[in-house]
Amino acid sequence: CGIVGYVGKRQAKEIILEGLTRLEYRGYDSAGLSIFNQRHQIFDIYKDIGRVNQLREISKSSAFSNIGIGHTRWATHGKVSKINAHPHQSHSKRFVIVHNGVIENYQELKAQYLTNTIFESETDTEVIAQLIETFVKNLNVENAILTTLKLLKGSYALLILDTTSPEVLYAAKHKSPLILGQSNEGITIASDLMALVGYADTYVPIEDKTFIVSYETTTRFYDLDHHLIHPTFKKIELDE
Ligand code: GLU
Repeated sequence: CGIVGYVGKRQAKEIILEGLTRLEYRGYDSAGLSIFNQRHQIFDIYKDIGRVNQLREISKSSAFSNIGIGHTRWATHGKVSKINAHPHQSHSKRFVIVHNGVIENYQELKAQYLTNTIFESETDTEVIAQLIETFVKNLNVENAILTTLKLLKGSYALLILDTTSPEVLYAAKHKSPLILGQSNEGITIASDLMALVGYADTYVPIEDKTFIVSYETTTRFYDLDHHLIHPTFKKIELDE
């Protein structure tokens, strides 16, 4: 029910945990996050049913990472369980994603494209990660994500990490809220403006059918046909 992602100069985990805490009032059943493990060159995942406080506890001893994504789940597809909590991974563990919303045609997509894929969870969300991994065999990452997005019916606010380029935070939005904030210290993307306050000087509410590629100091916005778009940033007014 809440999403926070960060890429920049700061400790991603702290921004994610603080952001998820500010979104707690919306209700949720599970919480999770993923941050880069420099030593092993993988994205570590911490997740479980229960509170953000508990997530803070289980991720306590992680090393510094300047990139990461986090999620509080309000289960819609698949029971409340640790396995169904986000983040989810593709089969090879290359792609790691969090998702707010509902993918209405996930069964059809499974049947059409993923008959040989072994799924870990019961969620609609995992289909997205598995599709990206399937399409990236023949396409570059951006096109693999765009091809996936075009197949999805329903709603999504999505953050995606790719183990082979751990300096990039991908995002996409359709019918679920997502806002991008920017400062000299990094990019924060969240489902609610509240999670950006203190971490962003300017922000932009992301439009439906937008695909985003963020680095520490720059962001590219695209429509789903991979055409660049140029949204207007607004200042965050603290007394708003
Ligand atoms: N449909 C997804 C799930 O059940 C995401 C739910 C949410 O928005 O938290 O896992």
